[in-house]
Amino acid sequence: MTQTNKNNIVIIGAGPAGLVSAIAFARRGISTTVIEKLEHPESALRFDPNRSYTIDITGHGLKALRYIDACEQFEQHMIPFKGIRIYGSNFIDRWNDDGWTGSRGDILRTLMNLVEEHYTDDIQCEFETEVVSVDVHAGIVTTCKQGIHQTRQFDFIIGADGGGSVVRQAMVDQIPEFTTTYSEIPNYATMLELDQNTDELDPSYLYVMSTNPFCVAGAINGESGKDKMRWFCAVGSNHEVHYSAVIEARRHFQKSAPNLLRFVSDTSLIKFTQLKCYHIGRQVTCSQLYGGKAVLLGDAAAPFSPIGQGINAAMESAMIFDQCYDGTTPEALESTVQRYNQRWLPEAKAIAWISERMVYNKTSHILRMKIAQLFGINILSNAKKTDIDYTQVKKQADRLPILWAW
Ligand SMILES: Cc1cc2nc3c(=O)[nH]c(=O)nc-3n(C[C@H](O)[C@H](O)[C@H](O)COP(=O)(O)OP(=O)(O)OC[C@H]3O[C@@H](n4cnc5c(N)ncnc54)[C@H](O)[C@@H]3O)c2cc1C
Repeated sequence: MTQTNKNNIVIIGAGPAGLVSAIAFARRGISTTVIEKLEHPESALRFDPNRSYTIDITGHGLKALRYIDACEQFEQHMIPFKGIRIYGSNFIDRWNDDGWTGSRGDILRTLMNLVEEHYTDDIQCEFETEVVSVDVHAGIVTTCKQGIHQTRQFDFIIGADGGGSVVRQAMVDQIPEFTTTYSEIPNYATMLELDQNTDELDPSYLYVMSTNPFCVAGAINGESGKDKMRWFCAVGSNHEVHYSAVIEARRHFQKSAPNLLRFVSDTSLIKFTQLKCYHIGRQVTCSQLYGGKAVLLGDAAAPFSPIGQGINAAMESAMIFDQCYDGTTPEALESTVQRYNQRWLPEAKAIAWISERMVYNKTSHILRMKIAQLFGINILSNAKKTDIDYTQVKKQADRLPILWAW
């Protein structure tokens, strides 16, 4: 039997996009149910060795956090971000506004903190509950928790369920005009923990340790927060890399990124050789970001290869959606999703365009970023800025089309 839910808006996924959206609704006094397949971030494994990369929250994410009044929480719980350094040189790309770094888990814990301190009346979170199917026309969501299935009906479904979104798949299956285009770039990453001499590094900076292999290191909170940080480095490659032995990995870094070895013990190198090298260069472009009674936010709407914008863009999409919100009647929801689509779809396409122009370890791409920097159109650093949209970043870059044609 299908139950009609007390909260008539469901948000699927308690990632950054889903939680920012839930908080924005709560600030309007509107209740939502948030369904998340994983456990509460406080009880989850603190360090997922594959997802402990350091994320900087800058321009686009900052706008979203200001919008939901979350900056104080981030100041309290996360590491302040001051910019990017190239290790071994004097180069510093300073960040002069508010900003923070940490892992995706640190970000989720901070957002959940805010939820639990202020919004428990309006946000009902259901962790360890997986959405297994969605009927986007009827608003029906079927979940599975500990093997028990439940079917519920909602007035509106917000798909914030990440790159493999079930809501997006339901739209593909159920809405003829909803189509998706998949593309891939050869970007891969393996995580490496820096576990020695890290007191020589300043946790408020991300460090480019090498450009080939593309290695960016940064700090995240430790078990007890900011006082015992841990350092991780994403080692990027343009093909899947496996090292059969530590000696092989050590030899590779000695040749191509010797700086890194100062910070890495043998134990950490052993772990590195055992970790999976992930293909992270998958992109999906949707023909529209809504269908039936559902809408897509964050990676569910537009997953793209990491260029330091995934969480920032995910939180911004939730902010834009809230700014378009018009009311809960069917007509108001229709105009909300139309306006959101008009605002966010071009942004999502611009981010995809930007990320496709950065294939790790491709010498020509690294060279062109340096040339672009000279002309003030470095798409990676401009994408971080608070005051320009992703579409504007692309438009400025298009002034030198020859630079981006390869
Ligand atoms: C190697 C790597 C490096 C990255 N580096 C950066 C970076 O430096 N900066 C940056 O901003 N971003 C980075 N990202 C990207 C970033 O992690 C994502 O873009 C971001 O987390 C997207 O947020 P989201 O809320 O849209 O989705 P997600 O964070 O994926 O959250 C979706 C949530 O939905 C849940 N869910 C999924 N399916 C279901 C279901 N069926 N039922 C219930 N719940 C479900 C998931 O468990 C998850 O909690 C990186 C990603 C990778 C892989």
